[in-house]
Amino acid sequence: MKEITAPLLFLIFSFSLILCTSCTDSVASQPSKKKNGELYQCLPCGDDCDKATYSKTGECEQCHMQLVKKSSITFKSIEPSTICDYIKTHPGAILLDVRTKEEFEGKANPNFGTLKNSINIPVQELESKLSSISGLKNKEVLVYCSHSHRSPRASYLLTQNGFTNVTNMAGGMSTVTDKACKN
Ligand SMILES: [Zn+2]
Repeated sequence: MKEITAPLLFLIFSFSLILCTSCTDSVASQPSKKKNGELYQCLPCGDDCDKATYSKTGECEQCHMQLVKKSSITFKSIEPSTICDYIKTHPGAILLDVRTKEEFEGKANPNFGTLKNSINIPVQELESKLSSISGLKNKEVLVYCSHSHRSPRASYLLTQNGFTNVTNMAGGMSTVTDKACKN
């Protein structure tokens, strides 16, 4: 009799333990997460330091830019290898080139080309020109540059200013090889 009850008791004990932890987890973890678990990361710059997270505000140890709440980074990201297909399947997307006028017009060296039908607002001018593109707040805006260092910053600026559907192209034009959607 003893040989059977011991394993049986153990089974019952461990089963109730599982039940207990899963129920307290679902009740307790949700509200406390927001208060204590806020994470911060570097203002998106496309460098490796974007991936590091911090438990409090301050500046990025690597690039010394301001840390922002990780939850405030809401733009999406797509791979440059899929860009031409992506544009085809998202015909309403506004393509926003945030490089300089010279780069956009192909006058810079090297010339990485531009995406067809894109518009140009250099990242340095974006903040002062937000009112001129406020009609695009609810459209999809696809942001790109040469190496995806300026475009994450521009994408973040847009989302912070009420743009609801912003996508950053990772890698930048320097990595786009598909000529189908490129000038
Ligand atoms: Zn950084």
